[in-house]
Amino acid sequence: MADCLFCRIIRGEIPSKKVFEDEHTYAFDDIDPKAPTHVLIIPKKHVVGLKEAAAEDAELVGRCHLVAAEIARARGIENGYRTVLNVGPGAGQSVFHLHVHLLGGRTLSWPPG
Ligand code: AMP
Ligand code: ZN
Repeated sequence: MADCLFCRIIRGEIPSKKVFEDEHTYAFDDIDPKAPTHVLIIPKKHVVGLKEAAAEDAELVGRCHLVAAEIARARGIENGYRTVLNVGPGAGQSVFHLHVHLLGGRTLSWPPG
């Protein structure tokens, strides 16, 4: 997607602080962190969001979560972290390229807002 913000980050057209990358996924620091660790994990394939994801995207969605778990393990924040997938504007989705937030490094209250 030519004008998608996160596709442009993957292509290196917009700078990002890379945390992890493999064949299918890319992870980088959120520009406006809400916790000491706030990483976004995205599929390299442009998928608009969870409700637009197709059955063929199941592995990608799973991979993004497993990358989040691996980053949390590497950072030693496994006592408690959260993966968040905002779905739709009403839940705060502002970038329409599927992304998993990894939030951790502080106490996280429940329920979220
Ligand atoms: P959401 O609101 O769930 O769609 O999440 C989008 C996230 O992308 C927000 O947490 C933003 O802070 C983050 N974001 C927006 N632009 C950038 C950027 N250029 N680099 C890193 N994170 C960004
Ligand atoms: Zn995209």
